[in-house]
Amino acid sequence: MTALPLLPANFGADPDLLEAADRLLAGAQGPRDIRYVKTLRISVTDHCNFRCVYCMPDEGVDWLPKDEILTYEEIVEIARTAIGHGICDFKLTGGEPLLRKDLGTLARMLRGLPGCGEISLTSNGLLLDRFADELCEAGVARVTVSMDTLKPELFREITRRGDLAQVWRGIRAAEAAGMGPVKINVVVMRGYNVDEIVDFAEMTLTQPRTVRFIEFMPLARSMIEEAEHFVPYAEIRARIESRFGALQPAQQDTGTGPARTFRLRDALGKIGFIHAMSAPFCSTCNRLRLTADGQLRSCLFDGGEIDLRPLLRPTAQRAELRQAFLDCVVLKPDAHKHYGTRQMSQIGG
Ligand code: SAM
Repeated sequence: MTALPLLPANFGADPDLLEAADRLLAGAQGPRDIRYVKTLRISVTDHCNFRCVYCMPDEGVDWLPKDEILTYEEIVEIARTAIGHGICDFKLTGGEPLLRKDLGTLARMLRGLPGCGEISLTSNGLLLDRFADELCEAGVARVTVSMDTLKPELFREITRRGDLAQVWRGIRAAEAAGMGPVKINVVVMRGYNVDEIVDFAEMTLTQPRTVRFIEFMPLARSMIEEAEHFVPYAEIRARIESRFGALQPAQQDTGTGPARTFRLRDALGKIGFIHAMSAPFCSTCNRLRLTADGQLRSCLFDGGEIDLRPLLRPTAQRAELRQAFLDCVVLKPDAHKHYGTRQMSQIGG
């Protein structure tokens, strides 16, 4: 990879930046020459109140020691550096981000940064009805909720403790607060929810939500077996199309990463696919990740991570932080391996 690794995605009308962007694009050999990194996914905690069968054992995992977790001030310092590179959108995730105390305070602090773009949240929805108003007021614009089944008993089985009705209350509260339409993430697993693919798709006919089907990714210590439960994108799509007819390409929602987005004929909502396994989209991946303990990661799967804590403690070293972002983007792989070293909850999914 040759070119400058970061190209501000929202460089606005700054003539110097626009000129630099033009020069870069003119010299690019192909899409991999330039990385458009637009979003930083910020994991605020590794704790979760669910134990999804594909993510965590029932007893949980070894939680990070408290003093290793970044403070809100440290996260904001990192976000300030990110904005300096044109990475202006922030997705709050975890673990379950709503378990972190005063998440609204962090959203407000980020919102106050000059140049801050869109702040969004990925949640399992269980606590969303309690925090929706506050988060919306604090500047969170959009919410994605994970929901792998529409059947209450199966929901409890997959999450090992979730209450589907409570998650629906959370979704409705988020939409009533002004953070809608909510996106719904569905991890498709054979033996669990394959028969519900069409039900989720049908939901988009009458509701403006986007349902995103995610291929199961075998991360570090999945509790279910890839060979047995993996369902490829082609099969998910075929099941939808054989029931409802051909999917039509649709405009991506803002903040959508590399998901492919479609619509059923005359549908109000959209259907997305995240096929990281059967058709990886590394060359267009537009995000970096920050783990709760301050590792800046180039990829969900590959180990390329840089520890930012030494650059923050005891005081922030701004030049070094800035360089760390440049170094991290260079680590972004052209194609990822299929297995990572950390669990999704420990990276920030
Ligand atoms: N707790 C929040 C939530 O439920 O959305 C945020 C973190 S969670 C790790 C983020 C997303 O990663 C969820 O949609 C979850 O279903 C997905 N996920 C976790 N492990 C996965 C795996 N092995 N394969 C595919 N998706 C996974």
